[in-house]
Amino acid sequence: MPLTIVHYNQPILRQRGVKVTKFDAGLRTLVDEMMATMHVAEGIGLAAQQVGHAVQVCVVDLRATDKEFDWLLDGAKPPADILMPFAVINPKITPLPGTRKTVYEEGCLSFPEIRGDVSRPDEVLVQYQDAYGVPHELQCNGLLSRCIQHEADHLNGTLFIDRMDKEVRAKVELSVRELAKKTKAETEASA
Ligand SMILES: [Zn+2]
Repeated sequence: MPLTIVHYNQPILRQRGVKVTKFDAGLRTLVDEMMATMHVAEGIGLAAQQVGHAVQVCVVDLRATDKEFDWLLDGAKPPADILMPFAVINPKITPLPGTRKTVYEEGCLSFPEIRGDVSRPDEVLVQYQDAYGVPHELQCNGLLSRCIQHEADHLNGTLFIDRMDKEVRAKVELSVRELAKKTKAETEASA
């Protein structure tokens, strides 16, 4: 069943997720529900904080995009349909030596209709565990790398608006404040 996606500025979005140590059925239910939620919302990634859980879990699925990106999972290249959707648990991200930074207009399911340019390293190594606790190493670039970096930020309470440079942030500032007001009013109405 899809879960409710929380919007900025719900405090949970600023909470650092705790490391997952129990890879049990409960975790796999959360992962399945997050995937369903991401698909209903037509997103390419979703972090646990966005559905109200401060844990180091995010899900990713880029099969619907036409953007180019490349990957190497544990030294091999499984087809996109085998790789995705997938859960990224307890991720550690390291930019590959010498990689360039790229700028791309990002959005976020917790910021409906707000988009802005964010600069991030292109190629990264992602060390993570799957929903069964198996460790993996994913080397990736392009939108896949960007998406995982965006989601991993969520797991540490960092949001894409924090990564925008001053000019970009200034352009979205009014919409961001209006969203925070709207979220606060909705929270108070449902309390
Ligand atoms: Zn996001």
